[in-house]
Amino acid sequence: QQQGGQQLSDSKIRVVVRKRPINKKEVERGDEDVVEMDMRNSCVLVNETKLKVDLTKYAERHQFHFDEALDEYVTNDQVYRVTVEPLVHTLFHNGKATCFAYGQTGSGKTHTMSPLPIRAAADILQYLVRPELRDVSLFVSCFEIYGNKCFDLLNMRKKLNILEDGKKKVCVVGLKEHTVNDVEVVKQLIEEANHRRSVGSTAANADSSRSHSIMQFALKRFIAGGAHCRLVGKLSFIDLAGSERGADTFDNNRQTRLEGAEINKSLLALKECIRALDSDARHVPFRGSKLTAVLRDSFVGETARTVMIANISPTATCVEHTLNTLRYADRVK
Ligand code: ADP
Ligand code: MG
Repeated sequence: QQQGGQQLSDSKIRVVVRKRPINKKEVERGDEDVVEMDMRNSCVLVNETKLKVDLTKYAERHQFHFDEALDEYVTNDQVYRVTVEPLVHTLFHNGKATCFAYGQTGSGKTHTMSPLPIRAAADILQYLVRPELRDVSLFVSCFEIYGNKCFDLLNMRKKLNILEDGKKKVCVVGLKEHTVNDVEVVKQLIEEANHRRSVGSTAANADSSRSHSIMQFALKRFIAGGAHCRLVGKLSFIDLAGSERGADTFDNNRQTRLEGAEINKSLLALKECIRALDSDARHVPFRGSKLTAVLRDSFVGETARTVMIANISPTATCVEHTLNTLRYADRVK
């Protein structure tokens, strides 16, 4: 069934769309499911209802093609199999892999993203028992980008500095890394990070939908009897800010407006950086935002792989955001 595994990872960018099920609340308020996923043809169909000038209704049908179109019955395990699993083996060959969840708030980004590192860790730890990988260890870190600032989600939400070194390489300084040799530990770290993200936003009287959360796995090989270590591979899981937040640039509140502008900028820069993976674009706007600046080393080089999961809501109420998400995902390819 998973014979495509090797093949999948040969393509540098994959775009997968996932629709979440309609929920009780939406059904109760008479909202409708207007999204059809044709999994066989990797196609998404959206039925948008529009009003004519004379107020009669007509339906407009939008169709999009992606690498995968996953319907509301697909499990998190299946999502793992078509997104991150094909990337795991590249990590042992100096690979950089990144998985993004993009979509409006409430579309299922966190639901989709949270289980992925747990499954990936289980697979990675299986590899690590091999004798030739005896000196390799898995490290986990997690931080949040909120506006222009970074916070360590696995170290009491400590504020982190982002600095540029002599080679113009941007790095997050003082980020805490946790050694992991048990899947249970990864589970706990994810819970801790999700908790910190929400607690942090309540304290700041803000909203976790306005921050990007970045969990990173680093595989490191210890050399010279453990005195030094060298990076073998890197895997990043990114739960992006709600895509609708990028439109907050017209909000009356100054703070909200500034945050919206930063989110908008980062999502646009991200799209361009991912697109550049598949072309020989000269100018890649890494420096266009904090998000792309800190992810730079995951975007460059022959071994870089990206999978974008576009999460969508099924309802008529959300149709405009859904179309925006699908258009964004379409342009990433
Ligand atoms: P986001 O992170 O994009 O704001 P969440 O992941 O928090 O969205 O999802 C919103 C709600 O919908 C949550 O209650 C979540 O459990 C539920 N949900 C999302 N995707 C699914 C799914 N595929 N199956 C069942 N419930 C889902
Ligand atoms: Mg979320």
